[in-house]
Amino acid sequence: MSLAALTVHQALRQARAQGVERLDTQLLLCAALQQSRTWLLAHDTDPLSPEQQARFEGWLERRVAGEPLAYILGDKEFFGLTLSVSPDVLIPRPDTETLVDWALSLIPDSHPDRPFTVLDLGTGSGAIALAIQHQRPQAQVSAVDASEAALRVAQANARQLNLPVRFHHGSWLAPVAGQRFDLIVSNPPYIAEGDPHLAALGHEPRQALTAGPDGLDDLRAIILAAPTHLNPGGWLLLEHGYDQSVAVSQLLRDSAFANVSTRFDLGGQPRCTGGCFQT
Ligand code: GLN
Repeated sequence: MSLAALTVHQALRQARAQGVERLDTQLLLCAALQQSRTWLLAHDTDPLSPEQQARFEGWLERRVAGEPLAYILGDKEFFGLTLSVSPDVLIPRPDTETLVDWALSLIPDSHPDRPFTVLDLGTGSGAIALAIQHQRPQAQVSAVDASEAALRVAQANARQLNLPVRFHHGSWLAPVAGQRFDLIVSNPPYIAEGDPHLAALGHEPRQALTAGPDGLDDLRAIILAAPTHLNPGGWLLLEHGYDQSVAVSQLLRDSAFANVSTRFDLGGQPRCTGGCFQT
């Protein structure tokens, strides 16, 4: 790439000419210059230093090659929190805020006698658990992941945000054997192996994305195991693929859940289904 000194304006134009979206080019340049987007607007003709330009062009090359912006910058906003992310974790999606909204509607600000207990399965970056803990400081939030590398990312986020989520390593409910919760939430892998959408998700951890030939293997495992880990009247809320709400609703009904319903994401797709555990 050229190393002739670029101005802010030229750097943005160069990135756009390579097909990078406007917002992404601005965010990459802000990070390279350690300035805000407002600053960029007012400093159109400022030249980049050689170090800033080299950093920007390196990142641009990665973005043009298809690497998600969140991995290049190392963070992602979710439910008003800035979370560190690495290729060891799925990048939190705005659609998953639907699940958090639903969870929050079920968690009282305070709970008589004892804390309200929440468990997040397959926490990844910790996004769901940390968003819930941030919004409901009185709740006792636990989170599980099968990947130690993912748990390191989640724990670093919890430390950075000063949120007291308890983390456990292991497969789904195995690490919390013998414990019951008032609410279990999960955004598990739910894409079918061989789904053409996977081509666009090649930078994200495959183990966080796929779950068997129909994408339902992990949802089935969680739904089957959840009743022995819920207090009577406790809720299980699950994110799933746009075409899985009927199957997930049926699995929940077959596994002692009542009041089964589905919520829609920002794009209008059925994205989360949940039910209440009846003894
Ligand atoms: N919602 C993600 C996607 O389709 C997948 C997340 C998941 O498998 N849990 O891009």
